[in-house]
Amino acid sequence: MTTESSGSRGQSSRAREHVAATARRLAAEGLLIGTAGNVSARVDDGRIAVTGTGVVLADCRAEDVTVVGATGEHVDGRLAPTSELGLHLGIYSGTQAGAVVHTHAPFSTAVSCVTGMDALPVLHYQQLLLGGEIRVAPYATFGTPELADLVVDGLRDRQAVLMANHGSVTVGSSLDKALDNALLLEWLAALHVRASGVGTPRPLTEAQQHDAVVQAITLEYGTTKESPQ
Ligand SMILES: [Zn+2]
Repeated sequence: MTTESSGSRGQSSRAREHVAATARRLAAEGLLIGTAGNVSARVDDGRIAVTGTGVVLADCRAEDVTVVGATGEHVDGRLAPTSELGLHLGIYSGTQAGAVVHTHAPFSTAVSCVTGMDALPVLHYQQLLLGGEIRVAPYATFGTPELADLVVDGLRDRQAVLMANHGSVTVGSSLDKALDNALLLEWLAALHVRASGVGTPRPLTEAQQHDAVVQAITLEYGTTKESPQ
């Protein structure tokens, strides 16, 4: 065994552990239910670590995560990859994403099922962390190249997209970012559903969104800081 191969094996085993831990956390948060949904991350050399098919995600272990090459060829792992492998590979080839989370989370999926709603409007400034309005990609059958193309298109300049009558996809530069984005998207979808139950939601204007972005940059919003004392 060469040093290079043992190094890359260590990298893929860490990635498999991290993908499994992310799946368990998303299940604990109620975003992944049973075997529905999947998680992946880039490893190196174009390889992808992705949850296997039929795995109960709340119990996902590193051995339930499969490693495939850039075109989906099997590299390591006892399980066949998720049936949505093509979706994940399409996102990696079409974006700079380092990790992908796909869920059938309750509120995100509910919002994806509303006639005439082609985007989740910006009701709260935190949504700007995902890039603004979140598109609802038109419906296509799960596991098809057509769905992958629609999702990649919906992710333009965004960290998230909803898939009509199906669920959500979030991306991030790392697994932790993709996880945070999935949790945030579900919170925002729940916010929209709850606000709609009280009355007509009032989205932020373009000017209010712009001012929030400027303020976030000024205050370095979202980063931890030492107390000035
Ligand atoms: Zn799905």
